[in-house]
Amino acid sequence: DDRIARIASAIRVIPDFPKPGIMFQDITTLLLDPKAFKDTIDLFVERYKGKDISVVAGIEARGFIFGPPIALAIGAKFVPMRKPKKLPGRDLLHQSFALWEVISEEYSLEYGTDKMEMHVGAVQAGERALIIDDLIATGGTLCAAIRLLERVGVHVVECACVIELADLKWRNSRVIIFIYLGNKIL
Ligand code: IMP
Repeated sequence: DDRIARIASAIRVIPDFPKPGIMFQDITTLLLDPKAFKDTIDLFVERYKGKDISVVAGIEARGFIFGPPIALAIGAKFVPMRKPKKLPGRDLLHQSFALWEVISEEYSLEYGTDKMEMHVGAVQAGERALIIDDLIATGGTLCAAIRLLERVGVHVVECACVIELADLKWRNSRVIIFIYLGNKIL
């Protein structure tokens, strides 16, 4: 697919950002190229349209850029998977606020841990979900999102990213990655 090469060339790589030694994959240049941006969304939509997916879960922050246009095109709702303390919510003791209950999952980073949160009332058990992020490195972030959705009985059909860091050491990258459940990242 010649769209892949165009998308790859629209992503720029910034050395030593945000820290020395990191080659940062920057998708902001992809957003400046409407054709490459549309090609990116189209590739995902072509794969997921008609697959009975009712939830597109996007991971903060760049999953919030790619997720919503995919959700609109396949007729699904968009559910943000947020950094801690961003979602308004109450604990279960306040039954009237149960719709806004927030659950969280911890995951490992290169140094330390982080948390991801979701509104329980945004989804229902039995729904079929797609998870979107810009980039997969170790897969830890996506696994936390999978755990959040599975805890409330949602079936995660697939995860999809624009970029895969295929080799962390050399920071080689591949563009448009569909990750099946059950493969090595899980
Ligand atoms: P993982 O949990 O190791 O798979 O890391 C994936 C997360 O780190 C994603 O949410 C990415 O947005 C972020 N990330 C790591 N490296 C980069 C990069 O070079 N560019 C953009 N995002 C990155």
